[in-house]
Amino acid sequence: MTRLLMYFALVFAVFTCTTSAFAIHADIQPRNVFPGDAFMVRLSDIAPSQAASVFIEGAEVPLEGCGEGCAFGIGAVEIDTTPGEKSVIINSGPYRLSLILSVRTPNFPEMRLKLPQDKVSLGPEDLARAKKEEEKLKEIWQQITPRLFQGDFMLPLPNPVSAVFGAKRIINDQTVSVHRGIDLRGKQGEQIRAANYGRTVLAEELFFGGNTLVIDHGAGIYTVYMHLDRFAVNRGDLVAKGDIIGFVGSTGRATGPHLHFGVKILSINTNPLSLMKLQISE
Ligand SMILES: [Zn+2]
Repeated sequence: MTRLLMYFALVFAVFTCTTSAFAIHADIQPRNVFPGDAFMVRLSDIAPSQAASVFIEGAEVPLEGCGEGCAFGIGAVEIDTTPGEKSVIINSGPYRLSLILSVRTPNFPEMRLKLPQDKVSLGPEDLARAKKEEEKLKEIWQQITPRLFQGDFMLPLPNPVSAVFGAKRIINDQTVSVHRGIDLRGKQGEQIRAANYGRTVLAEELFFGGNTLVIDHGAGIYTVYMHLDRFAVNRGDLVAKGDIIGFVGSTGRATGPHLHFGVKILSINTNPLSLMKLQISE
């Protein structure tokens, strides 16, 4: 009888030990977002032999390693997503977990501004140029390269925001566009710094953006810097977080010197401030 009890005790111990060692744990940061916000999923206790994957609304969020049994992925919610609860599904071997990401109703403000009419109603040549540049950028966003970023992202300019993300802009009482980045106040020639480690994949003059820099941080994350007076880096250059990459200007469709700062995550226009808030300690 004693021997039988011991046998059961042993089996139980092995069983609980096995499940606790391989039961994957997952956490999402933050749990509540607005449309256009970034989020981060962190997994721990992943079994060594089992690959893990994360999906939100059917779209995969690529995972990055962060030590033994640890992985994390950064994704974003589309600006026009319907508010409500979104399921984040985590698969690893026999395990399937579901986390809830709550998307709140946004309150994007309206802004009215005046611009020279030739910058608003485009002639056929300008229209063709702007379209071509948009296609070029679209191709960049689709490249998911190995991770270069390390730790948290920082603002490229330590100044107040003059135009928020998601603002509906009514230009010259007619054209409506949505502001897909933030504007940071800046003086002509002020230094702009890289938001994180990455590679410069675009450094050229665009019709709307003027002198525009794009930095690829890997894992599908890009930062965009527009209206620069001039560049301090070239296409192809590797940059460290905080490196000077350019100087504030008012090139392209701008009413005065400022920095338009944008973030793309897996081709999604993301509120840069939401990426800055993620705690990416590894
Ligand atoms: Zn802007």
